[in-house]
Amino acid sequence: MKPHRPFASRSALVLAAALAFAPLACTSSKPAPHQAPEAPDPAGSAAATAPVALEAAARAASGAPSVAPPLVASVAPSVEPEPRYVLADDLDARRKAITDGLGPRTRFEVVEETFLIAAPSGALGSSAAVAKMALHAYFNGRFSKKPGRAVSVLLFDAAPPYDAYCLAQWSHACSTPFGFYDRRTRTVVLNAAPGLGTLTHELVHPIVESDFPQAPEWLNEGIASYFEAYGFPRPGEIRGTRNFRLPGLLAALRARPEETRPSLPALFAMRNEIFRGEEESLNYATARYFCYWLDTQDKLWPFYRAWRDGFESDPTGERALVATMGKTPAELDAAWGAWVRAL
Ligand SMILES: [Zn+2]
Repeated sequence: MKPHRPFASRSALVLAAALAFAPLACTSSKPAPHQAPEAPDPAGSAAATAPVALEAAARAASGAPSVAPPLVASVAPSVEPEPRYVLADDLDARRKAITDGLGPRTRFEVVEETFLIAAPSGALGSSAAVAKMALHAYFNGRFSKKPGRAVSVLLFDAAPPYDAYCLAQWSHACSTPFGFYDRRTRTVVLNAAPGLGTLTHELVHPIVESDFPQAPEWLNEGIASYFEAYGFPRPGEIRGTRNFRLPGLLAALRARPEETRPSLPALFAMRNEIFRGEEESLNYATARYFCYWLDTQDKLWPFYRAWRDGFESDPTGERALVATMGKTPAELDAAWGAWVRAL
């Protein structure tokens, strides 16, 4: 089978856009309830599953100890220098651990230097093609800094192998049927069957983690969810489209009193714990459609870069918005709301 299609045949674009409308969930930035325990399994433990070995292999590649040191007398504690991280070694270790855990049919491709795409089915199909197109676009005039360490992207074709991976890795089911990014192992795990919107969403998170680590949740999730329904107009280009988050936002804009209505001033003032609070779903929608609105004016990336590069003196991003759009969040709120209502 062909490993993947190159950029964007028309059918690939239509497929990608259609799949992008599938519903999805995001668990990337919350402390994942299914995350592996902090204490690593001892190397050689009979209980260590193959996917857990992925972590051990990654530690080995980074030079971190994976077995207890022998008990020897010493007169003074020695401080080991931080081991040098070697990307090629990490990629090799991940390849080996994934193959050991998921089988020798697994096909691999390294994209944008640090993303190890892995297809356990043996076919780098449409999900791999979309991952490649999205990553190329993300680093084409959008994000600047690629992750310095490898990120695994596991593309499962269906729920059974996807669920089996979570069970082997964390001893319980995946927290979402769609996919997620696990920060600790730097791994995106996708069930492609319900759609690929989760893939384009989750790939944003390891990039923001590296490119703008101070970014608040609302910006991180706003950009990620902007790209969960997408099209590729041409190679190196990605644009979001309307999706399932719109009706809830419209309802809130139309029905709520001014004090609780979604607004740009509220968004810019939104602390992470508020974003993740009881209105999380609406907050995602507000952030998404703010990013979408900026991108229709080709202002999303100038704004993002201005905020990222000036974060120390502009922690809320308001100055970056004024520098980009010439107005404050409050001054832009009515225009943004009118745009959303007209979608
Ligand atoms: Zn997310």
